[in-house]
Amino acid sequence: NLPGKVALITGSTSGIGLSVAKKLASQGVHIGLNGFAKPEEVTAIRKEIESQFKVKTFYHGADLKEGSQVKSMVQETSKALGSVDILVNNAGIQYIETAVNFPEQKFNDIIAINLTAAFLTTKYALPQMLDKNWGRIINIASVHGLVASVNKCAYVAAKHGIVGLTKATALEVAKTGVTINAVCPGWVMTKLIETQIQQRADQYKISFEEAQIKLLEEKQPSVTPVTTDQLGDLITFLCSNSASQIKGSAYTMDGGWTAQ
Ligand code: NAD
Repeated sequence: NLPGKVALITGSTSGIGLSVAKKLASQGVHIGLNGFAKPEEVTAIRKEIESQFKVKTFYHGADLKEGSQVKSMVQETSKALGSVDILVNNAGIQYIETAVNFPEQKFNDIIAINLTAAFLTTKYALPQMLDKNWGRIINIASVHGLVASVNKCAYVAAKHGIVGLTKATALEVAKTGVTINAVCPGWVMTKLIETQIQQRADQYKISFEEAQIKLLEEKQPSVTPVTTDQLGDLITFLCSNSASQIKGSAYTMDGGWTAQ
C-alpha cells in the first residue's frame, strides 16, 4: 500500500529520522526531509535517496521552534510532493540539568521542538489525510514518554506530553482510515546521546566504548542498543495496512527498559 505515498519526516538529516526516511523510501514512498544540516549535506542525502530508491524528495529547513515555519513546512512539502500521507514527528533535542538549574529558555525550546511542533504538524497535515480517508502519524516519543530519569525534566515532560497528544488525537480520528501512534525507543546510538556517553567517559576516566556499556547497563537490560534500522522497520510496519487497527498506542523498543 505504500508506493507513491508521501512522508514528511521531521529531523531527518541524521539519526533515527534519516534511517526512517531511507526505510520508507525503500518502500517507494516520496520523502519530505527536514532538520539542520549544511546545504551540501542536504544535497548529498537527497541525491542518495533519489538515486537509490527512485523516489522524489523535498527539503524544508524549518526551525521547529517557530510555529509559522512548521506550518509552511507542511504546506510547502504537500505542494512540492502532492500531499502528506505519512507524518513522522521525529525531531527532538535533549538537555540534562536539575530542575532548579534548568535554564527557562532551554525548557521552552525542548517543549517547542519535542512537543508543540508535533501538535502543529498534526494540525496542518491531518485535514488532507482525512480527505483521503488514509493517513499515518507516528510520533517518536521515548521510554521517557512512559517513565522518568533524573535531570531530564523538560525532555520527560515533553515526551509524556507527546504520548498524551498521540492518544488524544488518535481517538479524534479513530473511526477513519488515519492512525496515530507513538514509538518509545530506549537507547539508540545517535548524535543525541553522544554527549551523555562522553560525560560518563570523562567522569569515570574510561574510554567512550566503556562509557557506552556503562550507559546501557544503567537502564537497558539487554545491554544492547536499539538500532535506527530496527526503528525504521517498526515505523514501516505501523504504516502498513496490517497496522490499521493500531491506534493511540505507545510502542516500546527498549531492550526491556520499561519492563523493570
Ligand atoms: P539526532 O540528534 O541524530 O537527530 C535529531 C534531528 O532533529 C536532527 O535532524 C536535527 O537537525 C533535528 N532538529 C533538532 N532541532 C531542530 C529544530 N529546532 N528544527 C528542526 N529540526 C531540528 O537524534 P536522534 O537520536 O535521531 O533523535 C530523534 C528522535 O528520537 C528525538 O525525538 C529523540 O528524542 C528520540 N529518541 C532518541 C533516543 C536515542 O537514544 N537516540 C531514544 C529515544 C528517543
